[in-house]
Amino acid sequence: MRKKIVAGNWKMNMDYNEGLALFSEILNMIKDEVTGQQQAVVCSPFIHLHSLAQLAKGYDKVAIGAQNAHQNESGAFTGETSAKMIKSTGAAYVILGHSERRQYFGENNELLAKKTDTVLANGLKPIFCIGETLEEREAEKHFDVIKTQLAEGLYHLSAEQFGQVVIAYEPVWAIGTGKTATSDQAQEIHAFIRAELTAKYGLEVADDTTILYGGSANPKNAPELFAQPDIDGGLIGGASLKSRDFLDIVKVFN
Ligand code: PEP
Repeated sequence: MRKKIVAGNWKMNMDYNEGLALFSEILNMIKDEVTGQQQAVVCSPFIHLHSLAQLAKGYDKVAIGAQNAHQNESGAFTGETSAKMIKSTGAAYVILGHSERRQYFGENNELLAKKTDTVLANGLKPIFCIGETLEEREAEKHFDVIKTQLAEGLYHLSAEQFGQVVIAYEPVWAIGTGKTATSDQAQEIHAFIRAELTAKYGLEVADDTTILYGGSANPKNAPELFAQPDIDGGLIGGASLKSRDFLDIVKVFN
């Protein structure tokens, strides 16, 4: 049975103290309210990682993630953070290829393939984001875009390595816009992704892969999205900054 995951992406929000306060609220609620087998992942800015990982000790339903990692192991890359550093904080996941990184920092599939290797080599799990822009959807290129992002970013991995990867389908037109993909639109792409993975890695690996939906998910629309057979949870931006909303989304799987 593949893992159900709800991951929060705080983006560049929350100073150190605000982040600790929000995370403490989340932990308290999880302790009292989460009864299912799902995993909550909180992907914070780097400055919070170590403290959050310390607070999360003993909570098996909560893991910590970063939002980016450098492709090199170490060296003269001023201002960057390596996968080894992230691992040393106690974090377990790293978001890679978020559309904001692709758009504002020029990250392409080739670079993301390297980042994926470094993240995996350091014992971290990538949450690998893929998704089409509005123009690409309107031009009916969305399936091709997804196929290329998967192939160029991930298909150099062995089946064993791929087993560590979580996929997040995030239509760019739905991120932070309040426009959610309908559950049918999301399910159509998730089923397509799983079929592509089946062709590349076989049925067992594809069946075990957690595929998250991201894009204006909230406590109201999450139940219908997560009821789809190929949607295994969510990557949540805005709603992850409110403890009640985030928990209500995590609890969809209770
Ligand atoms: C995201 O940033 O990954 C995201 C899905 O954002 P939002 O939920 O705010 O659309």
